[in-house]
Amino acid sequence: MLDSYNRNINYLRISVTDRCNLRCLYCMPEEGFKLLKHEEILSYEEIIEVVNIAVDLGITKVRITGGEPLVRKGIIDFIKMISKNKGLDEVTMTTNGILLSDFATSLVEAGLSRINISLDTIDAKKFYDITRGGDLNKVIAGIEAIQKAGISQIKVNCVIKKSSKEPDAKAVKAFCDSKGIQARFIHQMNLEKGQFSIVEGGSGGDCHNCNRLRLTANGKIKPCLFSDLEFDVRKLGAKNAIIKAIGEKPASGTYNNSGNFYNIGG
Ligand code: SAM
Ligand code: SF4
Repeated sequence: MLDSYNRNINYLRISVTDRCNLRCLYCMPEEGFKLLKHEEILSYEEIIEVVNIAVDLGITKVRITGGEPLVRKGIIDFIKMISKNKGLDEVTMTTNGILLSDFATSLVEAGLSRINISLDTIDAKKFYDITRGGDLNKVIAGIEAIQKAGISQIKVNCVIKKSSKEPDAKAVKAFCDSKGIQARFIHQMNLEKGQFSIVEGGSGGDCHNCNRLRLTANGKIKPCLFSDLEFDVRKLGAKNAIIKAIGEKPASGTYNNSGNFYNIGG
């Protein structure tokens, strides 16, 4: 479906949870934040209903994200269900990779077509610090497992401070090159301050060509990451919420005071 600026909206990012097994410095506070109540979180059946309607309205690609999607129970069966929709060309996921080695084969068998794994450094101590406790070896094992499982494409998302030439970014690039994986560099953003920029090696942050909608774990369709606009699928019904979100998708982002990456889905 075309929005008011003639952009073809065909991509839906679905956050299946606001929970995460890491606490990245730039994404989530360590403590003192409010998680969604279980009854607020959409059931998988509700998400599938939104996806089916979204596909009727022109969505052809979905990305499953979070929070950390692999911490939600039943994620493999959910991917199996979603992959049955013949209108979807691609079912993809963004994960921190910590649990990936446990799920790699089942993810591919369930129909996941591509995966993005977040990795900002290949220095174990720095990784531990950035993620407040994460084990780099688990992510590397996860990357190797999903490669072995034979997924068609793996990308690494690397958050940078200033440039893709900074030492950690260069080391991540060298690691990716050695594995035949593409690295994408994402400038650290600030939703509240409206600080965002184009993803190097990706399509995020390019408002002119933005083709995305987001579905939050509690059922809000968000037309733009950098806007407070949201349309509740439980209150409005999925079809209305999607049509309104596409109709009101802003020309470009400003700022967002109503959420963070972990509860909107990056
Ligand atoms: N937990 C999964 C992960 O980390 O890949 C999926 C959700 S996470 C919110 C999705 C992406 O958002 C990750 O690649 C992460 O690096 C990115 N992200 C989180 N906070 C960010 C920020 N402040 N600026 C830029 N990217 C951010
Ligand atoms: Fe969790 Fe991903 Fe946010 Fe890190 S970036 S805290 S892994 S949701």
